[in-house]
Amino acid sequence: MFMKTILGTLLLSIALLTSCTTEAQKNHDSAEKTAHTHITSRKDKITKSEDEWKATLTDDQYYVLREKGTERAFTGAYWDNKKSGVYKCAACKLDLFDSSTKFKSGTGWPSFYKPFDENSVGEISDNGYGMVRTEVVCARCDGHLGHVFEDGPDPTGLRYCINSVSLIFIPTSK
Ligand SMILES: [Zn+2]
Repeated sequence: MFMKTILGTLLLSIALLTSCTTEAQKNHDSAEKTAHTHITSRKDKITKSEDEWKATLTDDQYYVLREKGTERAFTGAYWDNKKSGVYKCAACKLDLFDSSTKFKSGTGWPSFYKPFDENSVGEISDNGYGMVRTEVVCARCDGHLGHVFEDGPDPTGLRYCINSVSLIFIPTSK
């Protein structure tokens, strides 16, 4: 009887231990999958209805910023822009990227190695189209900008691949 109890406790402990390990492993796996999600906690969030956005954006801007579309490579206004200045959100005019972080990626889309500051863009895991990518959105209005990849140049190793149509370029005044 005594031995049976010991054996029972032992088996129960093993069962608990196994289930805990499995649970911890599960948590670890899901943490890895969402590791690229970065949501800023801006207090100046802009939320508008889709009708309001439609009224203020051009059809092309609406398609990319609100419907997460992608402009065709080498067709946008800024992929080859080498001027100095700031790239702002076309929807809410927030500073998103500085020309000093723009580099030639050869992709046909404006490419930057880092955002204007840590609160300018949000990053969200995107598993659409059978690919695991990280979507980049404007941190203030949630407008879709493009995607970020880990094959960029130093110093960050990141490549923010952004649609020209989501941006408005303001040249540095001289
Ligand atoms: Zn915005």
